[in-house]
Amino acid sequence: MSSVIDLHSHSTISDGLFTPSELVRRAAAQGVRVLALTDHDDVAGLDEARAAASEAGIALVNGVEISVTWNKRSVHIVGLRIDPAYEPLRNGLAAIRAGRGERAIRIAAELEKAGIPDSLEGAYAYAANPGIISRTHFARFLVAKGIVKDTRTVFKKYLVKGKPGYVEHSWADFADAIGWIRASGGIAVLAHPGRYDLGRTNLGSLIADFKETGGEAIEVVTGSHTADQFIQFANYASEFDLLASTGSDFHGVGESYMDLGRLPALPSGCKPVWHNWPEMSPESEVLSSELGTVSFTQHSALSTQD
Ligand code: AMP
Ligand code: MN
Ligand code: MN
Ligand code: MN
Repeated sequence: MSSVIDLHSHSTISDGLFTPSELVRRAAAQGVRVLALTDHDDVAGLDEARAAASEAGIALVNGVEISVTWNKRSVHIVGLRIDPAYEPLRNGLAAIRAGRGERAIRIAAELEKAGIPDSLEGAYAYAANPGIISRTHFARFLVAKGIVKDTRTVFKKYLVKGKPGYVEHSWADFADAIGWIRASGGIAVLAHPGRYDLGRTNLGSLIADFKETGGEAIEVVTGSHTADQFIQFANYASEFDLLASTGSDFHGVGESYMDLGRLPALPSGCKPVWHNWPEMSPESEVLSSELGTVSFTQHSALSTQD
């Protein structure tokens, strides 16, 4: 299975392992033709990614994944086809990044109490962009120190609620983030809704609030959903009249559930978030030149069989 569209990915500008150029080249090699770079809380990788995409003959969608707080919980909202130069968006993201720096100091203090010293410097050593420090960088430090065997285990034993290194944090306001995305010309997409560990009722109110606040799409197919969740969220999309998105959430080899370009198609009945995008029209250069054999329909993800 190879998917030609991937609308969620990370580079070294946030917590991915590949630089924007390396990521784009890997996507192209994996058969991706339309890639969104959606780094956490930063748009600084988009220029480099666009240049690499143009060289590789694929389309780059300007994206970002914004960390927000909804009802005291951390939620991620992906913005697609945003304008990275839009001032209120840039200022909002800068404030979130400053908050990350301040949170990192508190995380390190908690780890210190648990007998793990020097984790602040340790985590920053893994952050190619010091403007974005995330739990992933702390996780890499804990693994490198031999304290935990892999990053997945870190997120069970450390850095999560009730475990050493966990701190409460207040991210961007939910409505503000959706507002920045929309006002910059972008589409707000609720990222990996199956990952929030909410009960049915809370999940329903999150999706309802999202829609009411101006959100237009939810991720149905993502590297962090199970096959059952593809169906579950396809049903939510149709219930709430939301467009459906698809993206691997690729961070790097060995750190992601799903590689680039390996997603299954959207379940039938979904209306793709790209249904009216020029880069996804059958006439677009990136698609028509290489994808003569791929069927394009409004209601399914573009995919070919390997
Ligand atoms: P932060 O935004 O700093 O709270 O860090 C969140 C990041 O940690 C996510 O974007 C993922 O990259 C990573 N992460 C969260 N949970 C897990 C997990 N269970 N396994 C691997 N990585 C995770
Ligand atoms: Mn991440
Ligand atoms: Mn996320
Ligand atoms: Mn992500």
